[in-house]
Amino acid sequence: MKVYECVIVGGGPAGLSAAIYLGRFNRYVIVVDNEEGRSSFSQHNENYLGFPEGIDARELRRRGKLQAQRYGVEFQNDEIIRIIKHDHMFTLKGKYRSYESKTVILATGVTDLFPHFDMWKKYVGKSMFWCITCDGYKMTDKKIVIIGSSNEAACTCMQFLNFTKDIVFVTNIDQGKEQISRKWKIRFREAGIPFYPRCIRKINGNDGFVKEVILDNGLHIQAEFIINEQGSIPCYELAQQIQVKLNKDYYIMVSHEQRTSIEGVYAAGDVTDRFSHQVVTAAHEGSMAAQAVNYDLYAPFQKE
Ligand SMILES: Cc1cc2nc3c(=O)[nH]c(=O)nc-3n(C[C@H](O)[C@H](O)[C@H](O)COP(=O)(O)OP(=O)(O)OC[C@H]3O[C@@H](n4cnc5c(N)ncnc54)[C@H](O)[C@@H]3O)c2cc1C
Repeated sequence: MKVYECVIVGGGPAGLSAAIYLGRFNRYVIVVDNEEGRSSFSQHNENYLGFPEGIDARELRRRGKLQAQRYGVEFQNDEIIRIIKHDHMFTLKGKYRSYESKTVILATGVTDLFPHFDMWKKYVGKSMFWCITCDGYKMTDKKIVIIGSSNEAACTCMQFLNFTKDIVFVTNIDQGKEQISRKWKIRFREAGIPFYPRCIRKINGNDGFVKEVILDNGLHIQAEFIINEQGSIPCYELAQQIQVKLNKDYYIMVSHEQRTSIEGVYAAGDVTDRFSHQVVTAAHEGSMAAQAVNYDLYAPFQKE
């Protein structure tokens, strides 16, 4: 079996950026991706440098793949389900084939905890978002429903007041289970934000565009956007298999050069404990990981 110098798991902005850099270092690299991450959803990125009209995340991926292929990087649609560490070598087992590599970059992203109402995937990136930094601006003077059950969600809700006053907050969790302190409930009242400790029964909408949110008490709330503040979970399982150090929330701990606690394993993008959660920072972390991989692969006579 051929031995890669690096297998990159994940073909989102972090993995693609790493691939471009490693391809241009003349390294023998493959990107293995199953196209299920954040950047596989419909979403128009309007804060990424160099695209005054914005760019669709899937189009950015398509271009990134072409750019990496130009420098000889291989691509494989597959899901890695197991990593085994040998002496100075890794075996990665995918659903379709296995890969041998000297190094591994984990750029596996996170899974968002979106509410799973009927056809929910159609709404992601069209009228359902999660990130105030990315999409707060789109909410200017719009009717929005914010979903969450934590103090952090309540705090983000207050910050959305800089974009719109037309906000309703819904916990979407069994009554009494939300963990929102009195302080925030008082602030909701003072800011005139209706607070409903109820679950969502149904969403009415058309082609991914929400029209109303219906609660389990029968209340219909008109809405143009849903903001999901139920959180996300990093895709940490592969890291855990080879004892890479994770923080308490299961994000991969990395050095400022994206090295993990295990030699030969690097991580980049949303899955790391640097909490980038932006395309621009994922691309940055991918480029840093690639430079660390490249340096570590130099022969002894090429290093200080
Ligand atoms: C609705 C929405 C809107 C957004 N808007 C913006 C915005 O406007 N601006 C902005 O900067 N950011 C935005 N983001 C955030 C941005 O999408 C992420 O920060 C970015 O995609 C992170 O890149 P990544 O490469 O770390 O992870 P991802 O893009 O999630 O890529 C990870 C990849 O790894 C793959 N993968 C995971 N596990 C495996 C495995 N075991 N085997 C093979 N492949 C695997 C996944 O399928 C996925 O393709 C938005 C996100 C969402 C959901």
